[in-house]
Amino acid sequence: MSLLNLQSFHVLSQQEHESHLEITVENLFKPQACPHCGFTQLYSHDKTEQIFFDMPMQGKPLVLKTQRVRYKCRSCGKTFREPLADIDGKRLMTTRLKEYIQKRSMSDTFAVVARETGLDEKTIRHVFDDYVAEKSKEMPFETPRVLGIDELKLVGSYRCILTNIEKCSVFDMLPSRKKADVMKHLKSLKNPEKVEIVTMDMWLPYRDTVKQILPDAVIVIDKFHIVATASKCLEKACKGIRSQLEKKERIKKNDRFVLLKRRHSLTDKEVIKLQQWSARFPDLGLAYDAKEAFYCLFDQGLDSKAAEQALIDWQRGLSPQIAHYFEALTTALSNWMPEILNGFVFDYEITNAYTESINRYAKDVQRMGRGYSFNVVRAKMLYNAEANKPTTSTIRKKKRKPIEEAPVFYLMLDNLTGSASQKQKYRTEIIEEKRYYGAHIPTLCELLEKGEFD
Ligand SMILES: [Zn+2]
Repeated sequence: MSLLNLQSFHVLSQQEHESHLEITVENLFKPQACPHCGFTQLYSHDKTEQIFFDMPMQGKPLVLKTQRVRYKCRSCGKTFREPLADIDGKRLMTTRLKEYIQKRSMSDTFAVVARETGLDEKTIRHVFDDYVAEKSKEMPFETPRVLGIDELKLVGSYRCILTNIEKCSVFDMLPSRKKADVMKHLKSLKNPEKVEIVTMDMWLPYRDTVKQILPDAVIVIDKFHIVATASKCLEKACKGIRSQLEKKERIKKNDRFVLLKRRHSLTDKEVIKLQQWSARFPDLGLAYDAKEAFYCLFDQGLDSKAAEQALIDWQRGLSPQIAHYFEALTTALSNWMPEILNGFVFDYEITNAYTESINRYAKDVQRMGRGYSFNVVRAKMLYNAEANKPTTSTIRKKKRKPIEEAPVFYLMLDNLTGSASQKQKYRTEIIEEKRYYGAHIPTLCELLEKGEFD
């Protein structure tokens, strides 16, 4: 026991092999009664040799070998294997190894953990999946009122990320942005009626899915997504115009950031720069003005009717020589007009903190993931303790509990006499319940920058 430090096993012998250590053990906790009928007279029926993996020791994988006894009950005649207190029944390894794998696979790849423990990668993955399932039961995230559906690139592919806009948190991450994946997830939402508003990227499969699964939710294309499209169009214009120029005339790459800035935040120097460019390349000036005009539409507090008119006017006002650069935006306007206008009607707030942190997160998270599978990255993000702190709240509920029961004799008396004391007396107890809303995005960004997930 001292060598292994496991209470239920007694060490009989040990052997060192090239690849691993092997310790032969004996189970100390003998069963007292039959699990089927509770009878206490048992006899040993037979023994089989079994092997269980344990935590690595002296840098080598460790296996425990034991002769496991099968008992037969003298009363019901059924047989059963002796229970082993330190062994995880599902995975045929010690419970502490299971916990060790769960912890290690959060900070190292499955391949490394497999090598360390002598198990194969598949087993490591299964143990990890069990852990994720446990966590999701332990911290069930509340369904958001305002659900964000976004995407980001992670471990080589586009993934769908679901957010709780009001809590500024990650609600879930899906392996892809394919309709089937999104559909499956939305179908499994707890209390889907809680979702009142869904904001999304302009990606048709998202809209189709939400309309089908959450028909009562209002779909909103948030300002943040639509104006981002305007910026992309301006970048396209900039690239197009650059490619027509001689090399020495070309706009420097860094200078493109000036174009993406809003007019009111340009420095004096940048204003001059912009004027010079516009004089030399009139199309670039026009494209900048078109982008600015578009952004301004969203700053004026217009109602939906006025907004619709303003968007149509903006589109009509586009100069023909730059219109093709803005095609992505004009297409978006014709495909998504009702959802864009919903953004002018429905009252909810996407804070700057949210848009900034989700953009930062999308960039930061790309750097990680080397060697990790998507599922690991997802679990690390969703269940990170630090990131869940700001979004977890404790609800205090009053619960009425009957004061200790009166002895049966008095109850009977009361029944006979119809006494007033029949009324139960209650006391109020305060019960605390935790509510989880997902991983706080700004905290995740901080942790990513500190290298916590590397
Ligand atoms: Zn029995």
